[in-house]
Amino acid sequence: MARKAAAGTEVALISLGANLGDGAKALRTALAALQALSTCRVVEASSLYRSAPVDAAGPDYWNAVVAMHCGLTPQALLARLQRLENEHGRERPQGVHNAPRTLDLDLLLFGSRHLHDERLVLPHPRMHLRAFVLVPLAEIWPHWTLPDGESVAHAARRLQQVGQQIQRVGPLAIISTNS
Ligand code: ADP
Ligand code: MG
Repeated sequence: MARKAAAGTEVALISLGANLGDGAKALRTALAALQALSTCRVVEASSLYRSAPVDAAGPDYWNAVVAMHCGLTPQALLARLQRLENEHGRERPQGVHNAPRTLDLDLLLFGSRHLHDERLVLPHPRMHLRAFVLVPLAEIWPHWTLPDGESVAHAARRLQQVGQQIQRVGPLAIISTNS
């Protein structure tokens, strides 16, 4: 496990993405909503990134990764994530592979759970293929070993070297200077 969670919780790792509308705003609003989830606490957040779409057409994506300590079940957390996507106007056009989206929240990891049903696969089966997940993740968990044995930092570099484009654009969280 990458980090030890607080008692009664497990470490949940979530990727955030958007490429329709104001994607940076959507990711920041989603971060605030994750921070407000009952029994969950955001413990780490990457910066905000921009990436070219992978295996799809459309505008560039805004991306980030967030780690939480979460007392929900993984199924309940996924339901909350999908509700948040819907509240951001997420549409799922039938038959369009990797369609552009106003907000995408994928559950990458939930403790050491391995699940494989029609609604939820854990660890996320495509996380190790995507620079837009691994480059933000390398910022917070560089030494974590992916399920296939490669370190996050190494896989992130490798995917960029083979042409997946992503760049850091600034902080995700707007840090309040008010005390
Ligand atoms: P994408 O795979 O491009 O993110 P969607 O966000 O539309 O596509 O998700 C498609 C389906 O993937 C959802 O209905 C959800 O139930 C399922 N799914 C399976 N495992 C996961 C996971 N780990 N995180 C998020 N969604 C998942
Ligand atoms: Mg998704």
